[in-house]
Parts: sequence; C-alpha cells; structure tokens
Amino acid sequence: MRQHNIAVINAGSSSLKFSLFEVTPSGPVRRIRGQIAEINTDPVFSARIGTEPSGQDLKLGDAHSGHHRCLHFLLEWLGQHAQVHAAGHRIVHGGLDFCQPVVLDSSVIERLEALIPLAPLHQPYNLEPIRVLSKLYPGLIQVACFDTAFHATKRKEARQFPLPTFLTQAGIRRYGFHGLSYEYIAMKLKEVDPALAQGRVVVAHLGNGASMCAIHHGLAVDSTMGLTAADGLPMGTRSGSLDPGVLLFMVRELNMSLDAVEDVLYRQSGLKGVSGLSHDMRLLEQSDRPEAKDAIDLFVYRIQQQFGALGASLGGIDGAVFTAGIGENSSHVRSQTLQGLQWLGFELDHDANNRHASRITAAKSRIPAYVIPTDEDLMIAHHVQQILIQG
Ligand code: AMP
Repeated sequence: MRQHNIAVINAGSSSLKFSLFEVTPSGPVRRIRGQIAEINTDPVFSARIGTEPSGQDLKLGDAHSGHHRCLHFLLEWLGQHAQVHAAGHRIVHGGLDFCQPVVLDSSVIERLEALIPLAPLHQPYNLEPIRVLSKLYPGLIQVACFDTAFHATKRKEARQFPLPTFLTQAGIRRYGFHGLSYEYIAMKLKEVDPALAQGRVVVAHLGNGASMCAIHHGLAVDSTMGLTAADGLPMGTRSGSLDPGVLLFMVRELNMSLDAVEDVLYRQSGLKGVSGLSHDMRLLEQSDRPEAKDAIDLFVYRIQQQFGALGASLGGIDGAVFTAGIGENSSHVRSQTLQGLQWLGFELDHDANNRHASRITAAKSRIPAYVIPTDEDLMIAHHVQQILIQG
C-alpha cells in the first residue's frame, strides 16, 4: 500500500508548530514534530524525527523572519523528508457555522476570514498557511479543524450571554475554545478510565492559554471561555473573566485607548500581571518573591471556583483530568487545587502526584483525578484521516 502522510499545522502569532503523521489502518502515527519559534524576530527551527531524542535548534536568521518566509522554509524542509498528501490546520474560530472539520476551498476560506473580528489575535495567523499552501499546491487536500467545534453540544443557556437579542444575533455568544484538546482528552479517557469517560468530568487545560470544560458522555456541557479566548481563568498573560465595569473604568476614567485595553487584557495580565515577574509557571514556582506566590494562589483559586461552577452545570462531578503545560507538569498547582476540593470527593495521592502518575488521587478517593498529556495535532490528524477515508 502506498504510504500517505498528513501534515498538521498550528500557526500562532509568534510560532509555527507542525507534525507529520503517517496514515495507518489503526490511525495516524506521528513521524515528525517540530516548530519554528520567534518567527517575527529571530526564527529558530527545531524538529524531532521518529524517536530521535531531540532535534537541533537551527537559527534561521533575519532572511527567514515573518510568517510567509518561515512557512516556505518549513514546506521545503518537510518536502525533503516526506511527501505530504493532505494538511490539517488548527483554526481557533469556526463561528456558528463550522461545528465539524471541513475541507477547505475558496468559499470556506472566505467565510473563515469573516470570523477574524471574533478572534483577531489568532484567526489571521491560523489562516495564513492555508493561503500559502493553496497557492503552492493547488491540488492538496486541506482540512480546517476548529477549537470551537467541540463546544457545539452545549445547551442554550451555556451558549448565551444575558445581552439584548441584537447582540446575540450579531454572533456575540459563548463559543468556548481548546476544543481539539478536550476532544482528544475525551477520546483518550475511554482508554484510561472507560467508566469515567461516560460520566461527568471536569477537564482543566492549563497552559499559557487556560480553560476548563465540563464534559458528560464525552460531549461538552459548558466551558470557562466565551466569545474570545480571553475569558474564564487567568492565563499566562491574559486576565480571564473580569467585571465588565473594569473595561469601562479603564476607558472612561483612565483614558486608555482600545489598543491599550487590549494590550492589558491579552498581554499584561494573568500570571505575568499579578506577579510582575513572568508568565511562565516554572519561573514563578522557582521564585521566592511573594508576588509570584500571589499569582499562583490566584490562578489556583480561580480553578477551584470553576470546579464549583462546572460541577453545577454537570449536576455533580465523577472525576477530573489535568492537561497542557501546567496541568501536565506542575505537581504544585495540581496539589494546591485538589487539596481545596476535598469537599467534592478528591483525595490526593501526594506521591503519585509528584511522580506525575496517570492517576493522582488515592485509592480511597471518592472520585479520581488524572493527568493526561494532550495532543491537539493528533486529534487533527484523526479528523483528516477520517475525511481521507470517506473520500
Ligand atoms: P503550554 O501553553 O501548554 O505549552 O504550557 C505552557 C506553561 O506550562 C508555562 O506556564 C510553563 O511554565 C508551564 N510548564 C511547563 N513545564 C512545567 C513544569 N515542569 N513545571 C511547571 N510548569 C511548567
């Protein structure tokens, strides 16, 4: 049988992450993973092929800076290593129309461009590689997979803001994000704990971007993010939920421009804003400054609160999953969080938590908590493979 390969591209504002999967009868198998970081300033390429422990960092230099040039470099590099038959893209916003992965053509691309105002800091970068690939390889099958799509099963109350109808009709709704991560976790949980996978689960995706999702029978019930990825939990540099009066105060009383407000909400708040030190949880955990502890404590407090809120949406909680950079690696954040949630029935196994074991609650814990590494690229490759099979 001829070997088929799927390239998965996850393009952000300053990085271009990618994976190459081989299509196999039992599902996509990753052959290459890598990224180009700092693409606007000083691009650095790294890739890992097969089981190689780690790829070498390669500074691309000024001549390759910018999305376009980095993408060209990546496609040339990939072309030297494998033939690509289809590409899958992570797209942050699918709006109301796109609740499933979709094969891209010019009319779909246009409709996705129209959603840029809903995700101005992500969507344009997500769409850029699609345009470049369609020009270079007009026959290539390209598939868009959406961070919003998994949340399409939320009931009406979970999707609506208490705003006048004309605003709801203008698309101002609670969409929810990190959907590809949640979909992957829901799929993986069927292997890890099949009974829980059918139950009421709170998943905490805690990375630079952070959100939580309530899942029942493998389907989304509610999440902490709404119209944009700035909602919900505090994040690396984003504030998360605020009293809307804060925005009015910044504009009216402090005379801040919209750009300045956006900068505060997206780039100067969260862990970075509270600590005044860094957005990076590792650095905060290493610091002995009280502001670093304040930032972690506030992060943990908001996570605990959302367990309560999402538990109410679910009518109870049968278990939890931690994932993404902080969720997978910070035993401190997990232990602080779960120790404040004994009332829900979590009893931490400190040793298992410190070892980053899969199950981090004690055998006698009334409900379990797991650590499951997420893999959004693999989820995208699954979708693309499905589309290839359906022809
Ligand atoms: P992500 O966006 O999923 O890549 O997650 C990035 C976040 O994970 C950053 O805040 C990192 O500091 C955090 N992180 C990664 N590794 C660790 C670790 N070993 N301990 C604590 N936080 C970590």
